[in-house]
Amino acid sequence: MHGFPMRQSNLLALSLAALLAAGCTRESATPETAAPAANPEPAAMPAVAAETDEHSYAQPDKVKTTDLALDLRIDFASKQIAGTATYTLDWLDKAATQLVLDTRDLTIDKIEGQTGAEWTPLQFALAPADNTLGSKLTIETPARHAKVRVTYKTSPQASGLQWLEPSMTAGKKTPFMFSQSQQIHARSWVPLQDTPRVRFTYTAHVTAPENAMVLMSADNDPNAARDGDYTFTMPQKIPSYLLAIAAGDMVFEPISARAGVWAEPSMAKPAAAEFADTEKMMTTTETLYGPYRWGRYDILVLPPSFPYGGMENPRLTFATPTVIVGDQSLVSLIAHELAHSWSGNLVTFSSAKDAWLNEGFTSYVENRIIESLYGKERADMENVIERNELAVEYKELDPKLQALALKPDALPDPDGSSSATVYTKGAWFLQFLEERFGRDNFDAFLRGYFDHYAFQSIATATFVDYAKANLLAKYPGKVTEAELEEWIYQPGVPASAPKVQSQRMGLVDAARLAWLGSHKLPLPAFTSKWTTQEWVHFVEGMPETLKLEQLKQLDDAYKFTGTANGEIAQRWYPLTVRSGYADARPAIGEFLQGIGRRKLIMPTYEALAATTDGLAFSKEIYAKAKPGYHPITSGSVEKVIAEAKPKPSPAPAATPAPVTDDAAPPASG
Ligand SMILES: [Zn+2]
Repeated sequence: MHGFPMRQSNLLALSLAALLAAGCTRESATPETAAPAANPEPAAMPAVAAETDEHSYAQPDKVKTTDLALDLRIDFASKQIAGTATYTLDWLDKAATQLVLDTRDLTIDKIEGQTGAEWTPLQFALAPADNTLGSKLTIETPARHAKVRVTYKTSPQASGLQWLEPSMTAGKKTPFMFSQSQQIHARSWVPLQDTPRVRFTYTAHVTAPENAMVLMSADNDPNAARDGDYTFTMPQKIPSYLLAIAAGDMVFEPISARAGVWAEPSMAKPAAAEFADTEKMMTTTETLYGPYRWGRYDILVLPPSFPYGGMENPRLTFATPTVIVGDQSLVSLIAHELAHSWSGNLVTFSSAKDAWLNEGFTSYVENRIIESLYGKERADMENVIERNELAVEYKELDPKLQALALKPDALPDPDGSSSATVYTKGAWFLQFLEERFGRDNFDAFLRGYFDHYAFQSIATATFVDYAKANLLAKYPGKVTEAELEEWIYQPGVPASAPKVQSQRMGLVDAARLAWLGSHKLPLPAFTSKWTTQEWVHFVEGMPETLKLEQLKQLDDAYKFTGTANGEIAQRWYPLTVRSGYADARPAIGEFLQGIGRRKLIMPTYEALAATTDGLAFSKEIYAKAKPGYHPITSGSVEKVIAEAKPKPSPAPAATPAPVTDDAAPPASG
């Protein structure tokens, strides 16, 4: 995924809410654990039993799904998916008598087991719903059937699906639907063993209205006839969070023989132009880490309500349209999702506690792709921005969430990880290893790691053992075990972290400081060469508030208010809100209603919620924007509004605001 959206303040709130929700887990589990008594435990648990996943009810040490066959019907009118899921099962425990699946808000109509050619009904129990984990589905399978089939339908409120009215699409004519399964939302549209510890192949037969194209994280055919009847095969084993589906008015635009873009008709060509370097990114990554193993690599550009930057659904990355800014300055998102084809989709974390194994490795590989295609300066600038964000987030972040490998109780809700930790600190750790062992040695190590654990799901401890054997012991004297363990198990960023120097960001700092002191803006000949990264850094380093005439001067020169670049907007609008700059209000309203990507809009909602007047405005805007938001986004906004403790609105700053510690311009050195 690209970008957990949580910033420091609501992250703490969310952790608290999740802790309370986890309390419900234990309570609701009590009555039903008493029911099935005669279930002898195996004499010895398999070696992998040490790896647990607190976010799933499944018992993969007893039985594993090896293949999933879906037969589904998409109904836009009722906002439901209905049909059957058939599991091919590998019974590891020959005494097991139950198959336990994860579900959320599903209606289970019927469950059958296959004996010979016959399907016979099976007894099952659906437990009361837990707020975070959903409902445990326990199926009695005394015969340990090789295949079990569940007939079910989804709820219109399924947490992993978003249904868009035609008015919320670019084309305005056809409804649109898409899934977001990570972390544990697949269970809201398919009953399954919803843990990355289980990998399975899948096939699907999906029907939809004739004018809707359907795509999945599988073998999409660029030439598929649009007839409302589609079949898919995913021949590589994937974890459940990579199960994905989308339906709507989507057309294909090729980038290369094996890469292309799917999007609504008006977006397809601009998207293909923005992502023109995708094939180069693929060959670059193959040179570093071995062949791309998934066949085609296509990108589905979703409507603006997609709550994330991107999602690495195999063979079909889901992407926000907010990175299509016309100058390829935000294509690191594609580098990131593509990198997951090695780090994450190929070698996967075995539970969300170890999310850094996916996101940290991917952020590292992303940065290597950017360096290779666009040069070291750009890669360094992106590191500066991310590390500055980490520094801000870590001022308030619970130390428990600052370790790369989280303790089981640190993450009650798997959506509650810290992005600074799993993405930025994770990548930083690998940059540290690269610096100490040398790029050639580290590249060879990483390639070997991806090969060794290909199509497996592992825990941090497995990586640590592998790194000790294949790096520390192989190249003695470079990194101590204590250093390795400090990075992985301790909060904060170790003193051994390599520093990044960005000359261009240094010049931006100088320009900002000069303007703050003199009101003289940098020469246009200088700023005309700035990319998104430099503008982001320019705005991000501003004091907590500015005077109205300062904001006006910036707006007159750079037109920040109303910018089409969401990365700039997400930093500029909170600054205007904190400063009481009312001129930006109409544009803020349009911005918050126009997109639903959480990372971009949440900072502005948080800034608005800090004052009584801003809170009232945010409620008014949210009421209008809500129909276009994904349930994940609505949940975040409602939380900020509900937990707001607004102060009276400030009088616009008449004197230069003191530069507090919080607002100190980030250092780029
Ligand atoms: Zn990611």
